[in-house]
Amino acid sequence: MAFLIDGKKISAEIKEEVKEAVAKLAAEGKKVSLAVIQVGNDPASSVYVGNKKKACEYVGIQSLSYELPEETTEAELLKLVEELNNRADVNGILVQLPLPKQISEDKVIQAISPDKDVDGFHVQNVGRLSVGADGFVSCTPAGIIELLKRSDVEIAGKECVVIGRSNIVGKPMAALLIRENGTVTVCHSKTKDLKEVTKRADILVAAIGKPKFITAEYVKDGAVVIDVGIHRNADNKLCGDVDFDSVEPKASAITPVPGGVGPMTIAMLMVNCLKSAEMTGK
Ligand code: NAD
Repeated sequence: MAFLIDGKKISAEIKEEVKEAVAKLAAEGKKVSLAVIQVGNDPASSVYVGNKKKACEYVGIQSLSYELPEETTEAELLKLVEELNNRADVNGILVQLPLPKQISEDKVIQAISPDKDVDGFHVQNVGRLSVGADGFVSCTPAGIIELLKRSDVEIAGKECVVIGRSNIVGKPMAALLIRENGTVTVCHSKTKDLKEVTKRADILVAAIGKPKFITAEYVKDGAVVIDVGIHRNADNKLCGDVDFDSVEPKASAITPVPGGVGPMTIAMLMVNCLKSAEMTGK
């Protein structure tokens, strides 16, 4: 039986640590605040935004909420981002994606000050990560590194295979594993003979976006398996990119869905907001 990597427990620990640090800053008269912008009212986005605000409230970070109508123009959104960039009392700016068609997501992301880019999507922060410099790192892969470290999974020298090369998960995940001295391979939709590659992995990260795609035959005996996927099946139950029931008996450790990677993303957003506040005034 595989060891279950408990994202619920680890994310709760991280939030407690942030809460303590935020209280310390408050005692010095320093507030931490996050501006959360949502354009339109996509139901999934509303759930994500609601969860982010709830986490802020829990750890003592002030959240400033901007709910803009679906027909907001790119110029209007860029103007708001600029205003928030210039406000000393705002530490982090988060624009919930996806944005409506008339707005370029890339333009908006690149307009956010890299010092307030708590999602870690700005090219400056992506560049800092790739050269090993300090900056904001995309929350989901940063959370996976915390899951591994806090579960005593050694990364240095290990064969790490990441499936998926998206800008928010796959690519920063690979960069972080390299930073931790893993030997890293990235697979994607054009990879030939995926199984042959994934079967080499001591640490396998699945960020494919296809429900239960990774079955036991993709996994080496004793591998650590991290499942990034989130899907709802026909019975409205959550599942991941990994076929948990077939993979779990083969793995040495595995993240469940729900309760694995998912809760880490918001916890790491809180860490990034705290980091931003600690950086200002230094
Ligand atoms: P994406 O669609 O942007 O990227 C998917 C990647 O998988 C692509 O790089 C593609 O090349 C690769 N891929 C697709 N089919 C493949 C195949 N047959 N073989 C090999 N590679 C293949 O997705 P994403 O944004 O990186 O997200 C991946 C999954 O993680 C989704 O299920 C998403 O919902 C989930 N996700 C979860 C969290 C979280 O907080 N837990 C955060 C972000 C994304």
